[in-house]
This record gives sequence, C-alpha cells and structure tokens, in this order.
Amino acid sequence: MATKSLVKSAQITVVGAAHNCKANKRHRLKKGDIRLTVKEGQSTSHYCVCCGLKILDRSIKKLTSLQTDIKDS
Ligand SMILES: [Zn+2]
Repeated sequence: MATKSLVKSAQITVVGAAHNCKANKRHRLKKGDIRLTVKEGQSTSHYCVCCGLKILDRSIKKLTSLQTDIKDS
C-alpha cells in the first residue's frame, strides 16, 4: 500500500541498561523491562509502561477523533 503510516515512530522495546523514564525521572526502568520507544526526528525517547500507556491512549483518541472528523466531512 503506497500510503504513509502515522505510527511508525512508536515501538515496544526491551531495556538494556537501566535508565529513567523520559516523562518522569522518578520512574526507573530496569534491565529486561519493556518500554515504549518513540522516535522524533533524530532523537529517540523511552517511556515506562505507565507513561507509555498514557501516550498510546492519547494517540488513539487523536486518531479516533481524526477518523470521526474525516467520515463526517
Ligand atoms: Zn514513566
């Protein structure tokens, strides 16, 4: 299909070396945890599952809203 994906920047990855969540530095990610990885241009950000779910929820709502708007127009 010769169309662009809106969500190619997001993927689930596994933590290598322990680090802090990008959204909240008190959220610690340990080796072996899963996380949401988001590529924005040249930079890559990693989020804990809790923050990742919020980001996914917000993105799904946005896409659903766009879908509704395009169907209604
Ligand atoms: Zn977090």
